[in-house]
Amino acid sequence: MAMEKCTSCNAPLAEDGATRFPCPKCGNEIRRCPQCREQSIGYTCAKCGFQGP
Ligand SMILES: [Zn+2]
Ligand SMILES: [Zn+2]
Repeated sequence: MAMEKCTSCNAPLAEDGATRFPCPKCGNEIRRCPQCREQSIGYTCAKCGFQGP
């Protein structure tokens, strides 16, 4: 079972509070931990390099 990690800060994701959504560009799954979501830390898609808020 693979440990999911936050796309923004690479922290291991706990079940609660984490959010996930497909990359707007390529559909690759983006995951964000609660901290990054609250602070609106940007993400970079690992697959296509798309950067979002
Ligand atoms: Zn994070
Ligand atoms: Zn992408």
